[in-house]
Amino acid sequence: MAKRDYYEVLGVSREASQDDVKRAYRKLAMKYHPDRNPGDKEAEDKFKEAAEAYEVLHDEEKRARYDRFGHEGLAGQAQGFSNFEDIFSHFSDIFGSGGGGSIFDGIFGGMGGGGFAGGRNVRAGASLKCRVNIAFEEAAFGCAKTIELRRNELCESCSGSGAAAGSKPKQCPTCGGRGQVYRNQGFFSVATTCPNCHGQGTIIDKPCASCRGEGHTPKTVRIRVNIPGGVEDGTRLRVPDEGEPSASGGPRGDLYCYVFVEDHDFFERRGDDVVCEVPITFSQATLGTDLEVPTLRGKARVKIPAGTQSGQVFRLRGQGFPHLQGYGEGDQIVQVILETPKKLTKRHEELFRELADLDEKHVSAKRKGFLDSLKKYFTEE
Ligand SMILES: [Zn+2]
Ligand SMILES: [Zn+2]
Repeated sequence: MAKRDYYEVLGVSREASQDDVKRAYRKLAMKYHPDRNPGDKEAEDKFKEAAEAYEVLHDEEKRARYDRFGHEGLAGQAQGFSNFEDIFSHFSDIFGSGGGGSIFDGIFGGMGGGGFAGGRNVRAGASLKCRVNIAFEEAAFGCAKTIELRRNELCESCSGSGAAAGSKPKQCPTCGGRGQVYRNQGFFSVATTCPNCHGQGTIIDKPCASCRGEGHTPKTVRIRVNIPGGVEDGTRLRVPDEGEPSASGGPRGDLYCYVFVEDHDFFERRGDDVVCEVPITFSQATLGTDLEVPTLRGKARVKIPAGTQSGQVFRLRGQGFPHLQGYGEGDQIVQVILETPKKLTKRHEELFRELADLDEKHVSAKRKGFLDSLKKYFTEE
């Protein structure tokens, strides 16, 4: 398939400025971002196509070559990204440093805070992980959990500036506050991160004693996490803006909360259905009965018809887990298991023997008690 023109892909004119290119790409990246279009192959292709176009057009040299020679001029140069990780890491200035997950913060943070102005290196804070255990029922109906975790918080002594009381961070003399220095290389001027301020644009003469100039100190914080009903064991929930703070004035990273669902005494999950095994006796299976069974929402009754076989299942509509995506609930599946009695009273035994006679089946000889029968089982059979 012929490659589309990169300007056309981003929807910008050939005279578009670097800012226009960036803005156009950011817009497309948001629209076709995989988080927003799960499982949509067309969106995925568009996302990759836009990344490739941006890779060329935001680079002066590649863009110049593309303008003169078209796609051929870039043989072996354009990335043709195969996976999202590549794209996220490649354009971390757009997506933030937290990788794919924090993309929206990266984009919105960059737009809102004007973080790209002047080429200063503004990045979202690092993401954090935590785990939370919830009960089976909590997974079904959702819950809110308070999680304790240790992360960096703004230093109170210096309000996050990193400078000691009475002093202020000052403009970096090496880069003049731009965060980047320019170097001539052949015909091109190449921008690199300022080695003096590491892209911050500012330097601190007298660092704050409490945070040693970091601007933040580790603290234990409590965070409320809302867990939606229908969540599955092992699900990763993104809690936006609860990760580490940014070192460069960008948004906080995200918190990724891994949810673990505890086992239940008599329920098991299968998709959004709940499976429950219920033991029944021979007489119940044979003659039919009205069973009371536990459900996630309380008790329910199941009609067991006469002649029910062991392992047969009965469905209670809408008594399962709510569908996480969309409306409605799964079912509860009641599986009846025929329980062979192990301990018989004398009367039980009489009746079973009568039954055996009716069935004209050979059964082992009459016994006095359960222990006797066990003994006989091993000596006679
Ligand atoms: Zn401080
Ligand atoms: Zn500098």
